[in-house]
Amino acid sequence: MLTNTYLKNVYDGLAARNAEQPEFLQAVAEVLESIQPLVDRHPEYEKYGIIERMVEPERIIIFRVPWVDDQGKVQVNRGYRVQYNSAIGPYKGGMRFHPSVNLSVIKFLGFEQTFKNSLTTLPMGGGKGGSDFDPKGKSEGEVMRFCQSLMTELYRHIGQFVDVPAGDIGVGAREVGFMYGQYKRITNSFQGGVLTGKGLTFGGSLARTEATGYGLCYFVQEALKCMKNDSFEGKTVVISGSGNVATYACEKATQLGGKVVTMSDSNGYVYDPNGIDLAAVKEIKEVRRGRIKEYVATHPEATYTEGCSGVWTVPCDIALPCATQNEINEESAKILVANGCKVMCEGANMPTTPEGIAVFLDAGVLYGPSKACNAGGVSVSGLEMSQNSERLSWSFEEVDEKLQGIMKNIFHASYDASVEAGCEGNLMVGANCAGFLKVATAMVAEGVAY
Ligand code: NDP
Repeated sequence: MLTNTYLKNVYDGLAARNAEQPEFLQAVAEVLESIQPLVDRHPEYEKYGIIERMVEPERIIIFRVPWVDDQGKVQVNRGYRVQYNSAIGPYKGGMRFHPSVNLSVIKFLGFEQTFKNSLTTLPMGGGKGGSDFDPKGKSEGEVMRFCQSLMTELYRHIGQFVDVPAGDIGVGAREVGFMYGQYKRITNSFQGGVLTGKGLTFGGSLARTEATGYGLCYFVQEALKCMKNDSFEGKTVVISGSGNVATYACEKATQLGGKVVTMSDSNGYVYDPNGIDLAAVKEIKEVRRGRIKEYVATHPEATYTEGCSGVWTVPCDIALPCATQNEINEESAKILVANGCKVMCEGANMPTTPEGIAVFLDAGVLYGPSKACNAGGVSVSGLEMSQNSERLSWSFEEVDEKLQGIMKNIFHASYDASVEAGCEGNLMVGANCAGFLKVATAMVAEGVAY
């Protein structure tokens, strides 16, 4: 509940102007509630209009993306780029291709990205983009023509010192490659730092593919060690999703001694009591671009269940949601807690509803919010930009070591800020406060420029 009058007035005005954007308002409400103690202590934020400026994106670009399908028919999708906040660096954040993409979703993601990027300690502002294009069932030629058309408009709004997109749901190395190729052709220049998540042969960073999932597990590892004197060893882990984040979270959790027993897609989930065979999942998802239910054809001991939310009924010690927003509601949270879940750390962006988060916090579950837990992806994107600038490539080990250091720092910054805010161990409040502080300080120093 917002008790600070300034914050309440800003939020009420925002809610009235954006009543049709529930995901965006949900993300803003969480941050404003968390930073109340800071705003109470710093009257200058009101004087400089920091909060009303911070909740409003600096720029929103919406554009038509026409393309021709394999039957020769013209298709039209809608493209978005929300350039949210450039106080501490160029706008930075992924592109999402999914039919559910709309302005509310892209604004929530861009808003969250601003604080996440601040937590990484790298000089990156916040942005996000995407399209309601559905890559599922499309041929490679269709995906390429779509990406080229999208970039034909987007190129004029981005740049290594302006705005640096990357991947997200539905956008992996293939799509980034197609977008980069078109950018290069239009601008007649090789500017590696304009996109991250590129292929390794043209400026991509080793360990970028693994970074979000690995980073999530490094965060969990540090949090378990410092808050519970414990580790992944011997723990049962439930993971949702079977895309980029889920795959590499599964790989690292297993390497660290956990047993991952589930993975899912938007149709349903598989449960393998022997532990997920990740090579089989990679073959289905990365090579064949198939569905997770195909797993049981080669693993008779595993079961497949239709529907996504059932994955949270599988008993576990650690839950790592890695699919999409609001995939865990109050009911799923209660089931997880009743089944003994002790750690809930978010790989996906905002996968837990506010009611679900309250269940975890009330039950004393170690709850790690997405803007802290999944910051590994954008961190290695930042490292990819550094490598592009110095025209060198670092080894996998070098990048992975830096990633581990960043994730440990993010945990400690969040934990320390939770202590300062008077709610030790509440990493949601801590991450929001720590991420906010740096951006707010920069905005005050830069004057009313934006
Ligand atoms: P991918 O497209 O690689 O994989 C997404 C996975 O989630 C797929 O298994 C997909 O199933 C499933 N999924 C997507 N939408 C839904 C839905 N509405 N309901 C149920 N399942 C769904 O995306 P990523 O792994 O890259 O992203 C996953 C999450 O992690 C997102 O929230 C993203 O914002 C976040 N994230 C990603 C980062 C990255 O580096 N890639 C960085 C930080 C956060 P299906 O194949 O059936 O669609």
